[in-house]
Amino acid sequence: MASLSLKHINKTYPNGFEAVKDFNLEIEDKEFIIFVGPSGCGKSTTLRMVAGLEDITSGELKIGDKVVNDVEPKDRDIAMVFQNYALYPHMTVYDNMAFGLKLRKVPKDQIDKMVREAAKILDLEALLDRKPKALSGGQRQRVAMGRAIVRNPKVFLMDEPLSNLDAKLRGQMRVEISKLHQRLGTTIIYVTHDQTEAMTLGTRIVVMNAGVVQQVDTPQTLYDAPCNMFVAGFIGSPQMNFIDAECKVEGDKVSLVTGPHTIVLPAAKAKALKDGGYAGKAVVLGIRPEDLHDEAEFIQASPDTVIEAKIRVYEMLGAEALLYFDYEGSSMTARVDPKTSARSGDTVKFALDADKIHVFDKETEKTIT
Ligand code: ATP
Repeated sequence: MASLSLKHINKTYPNGFEAVKDFNLEIEDKEFIIFVGPSGCGKSTTLRMVAGLEDITSGELKIGDKVVNDVEPKDRDIAMVFQNYALYPHMTVYDNMAFGLKLRKVPKDQIDKMVREAAKILDLEALLDRKPKALSGGQRQRVAMGRAIVRNPKVFLMDEPLSNLDAKLRGQMRVEISKLHQRLGTTIIYVTHDQTEAMTLGTRIVVMNAGVVQQVDTPQTLYDAPCNMFVAGFIGSPQMNFIDAECKVEGDKVSLVTGPHTIVLPAAKAKALKDGGYAGKAVVLGIRPEDLHDEAEFIQASPDTVIEAKIRVYEMLGAEALLYFDYEGSSMTARVDPKTSARSGDTVKFALDADKIHVFDKETEKTIT
C-alpha cells in the first residue's frame, strides 16, 4: 500500500522562515496528487520533506502504515524526478537507467530485465545505445523517468519535471505521464506552478499559497467552486475577473451594484448573501472570461446581468477570441466566439452567465456563493 498521511506538518528553516504551516493531507494508494501554487509557496519544501531530503520541523509523515519522519531517504521506497534531470553525459541511455541498480548490486540479468521493461513503457527501446547529447529534451526527460521507474518505487515524487521543455513537448509529456500513471498504478506526487499542468494531470490538486494549503479538491471542483479569491484567481486561464460591488437587498431580490450597472442574482445566490447579512456591504463579484457573453441573443435573454465597456484589445486565437477591457477599475477579459464583431475601441455589451457568478467577501476574500 502506498498511501501517505501528512498530519500537522510544519517546516521552519534554520533562518526562522516558516515555509510550510500546518499541512494536512491524506493521499490514497494510486492517487495522482498535484501540489500547485506560486513560486515560493512551499510546494518543493513539502515534497522534499516527503522524500526525506528536508527535516520535518513538527508533525507526522506516514508512508503506508509507517511513520517515516526519521527514516533515511533511501529506505522510504520512493523515487524522485527533478526539474534538472542531470543524466550522466558519458553513459548510454541504458547505462544511465541501470546505474542506480548497479550501485545497489542488483544481479546483471535482473538489471537488464528491469531496464528493458522501463524502456518499453517509455518508448525508449530504440534509443538505449545513444548518449544523452544525441537525444531531444523530451527523450532525455523520459530517460530521467526511466531511472526512477527501474527502482520500482511505491511512490513517485516529481518536482516540475517538465519545466525545462518547450510548450509543445510539455503537452506531449503531460500525456506520457498520464499514461505512465495508469500503467504503473503507483502513487504520484507532482509539483508544478503551472495551473494547466495541474488541471490536466491531477486526480486531486492541493493549492498552496504562502506555506498554507488553500484548498484540496478535484480539478473540476476547484474550477467550479473555489473556496476563496486566491484559488479562484489561480485556477483557470485567462484568470477569473474580479469586480468590486455593493450588495443591495430588497425583499428577496439581491443585486450587486457596480458602477452604472446593477446585476440581479439568481435565487440561490441571493439567499446566500441575504442570509449571510451582506446587505449594504462591499463584496467582490467574480466571473470567468468564458462566462461573459457578447452574443445578442444571450444578452437579450439575460437582462439582469448586462454590463457595458469599451474594448481595449481584441485578440483572435483561432478557436476563440479574447476581448480585453477595463471596467470600474478592474482589467477584465472575455473569451468569446471568434465570429464576434467586437474590435478594439468598440463599446460592447456583455451579459454575465448568472449561474456562474461567484461572490466573495471583500474583507476575508472567502467565497460567499
Ligand atoms: P518554486 O516554484 O519557486 O520552486 P516552491 O513553492 O517550491 O517555489 P519552496 O522551494 O518550497 O517554494 O520554498 C518555500 C519558501 O522557503 C521560499 O520562500 C524559499 O525562499 C524558502 N526557502 C527554501 N529553502 C530555504 C532554506 N534552505 N532556508 C531558508 N528559506 C528557504
